[in-house]
Amino acid sequence: MTNMAHDINMARNITDVRERLAAAARAAGRAPTDITLLAVSKTQDADAIRRAHAQGLRDFGENYAQEALDKMAALRDLDIRWHFIGPIQSNKTQAIATHFHWVHSIDRLKVARRLSSQRPAHLPPLEVCLQINIDGEASKAGVAADDAEALAVAVAALPNLRLRGLMTLPAPRNDWQGQRAPFFHLAQLLATLRSRQPALTDLDTLSMGMSDDLEAAVAEGATLVRIGTAIFGERPPKTLENLS
Ligand SMILES: *Cc1c(COP(=O)(O)O)cnc(C)c1O
Repeated sequence: MTNMAHDINMARNITDVRERLAAAARAAGRAPTDITLLAVSKTQDADAIRRAHAQGLRDFGENYAQEALDKMAALRDLDIRWHFIGPIQSNKTQAIATHFHWVHSIDRLKVARRLSSQRPAHLPPLEVCLQINIDGEASKAGVAADDAEALAVAVAALPNLRLRGLMTLPAPRNDWQGQRAPFFHLAQLLATLRSRQPALTDLDTLSMGMSDDLEAAVAEGATLVRIGTAIFGERPPKTLENLS
């Protein structure tokens, strides 16, 4: 495909996603401007990110630290807020603390401590969310809902992190009620945390909803949706290289 054809496809995809978000917000009696569209650019090259940026997107999500650093270097001229949304390996915390604005996938205090101590002094605090394993899946990352409050209190006490809220990646479901249930649960968890821990004043973020379930997430109060496929198209299958 030519670059121009790429541009037209991407512009149409982004318009479609914005319309879906606006319709979902209206249906829920919410303002579309209250919901941040995070473009998930894992496996996409720097050029694709540049084209999405040209359509007005400013928040991009990456799952693999090394892959992200290469793209950041190529896109240094753009004003992008980079969000880390993947599993965090201990040997990658330094790079993540140095180069990202947000981290959505904190699920262990040990990793949070490393990120805080490795955050460069000249940068503002790293904005973070706790990843919650909302369906209690054995295979999935995230802290158990029952352990979220203790982790939140400990993370909020770290000097160079700013705890903003909760993130989840539920098991896929095809029906509307089924899709809403885990998002309802996450929203309740945040509401409970806010009322039990009034000292945690920055809790304003529910990072939930992807290409297939963004409407259900917005209906339950998502403030940030993480959209990959619906913007960039299908991803190539995972390879050993992009898993590292
Ligand atoms: C890949 C990914 C997404 C985007 O998923 P799509 O279905 O492509 O929209 C969102 N969140 C996380 C954590 C991801 O890994």
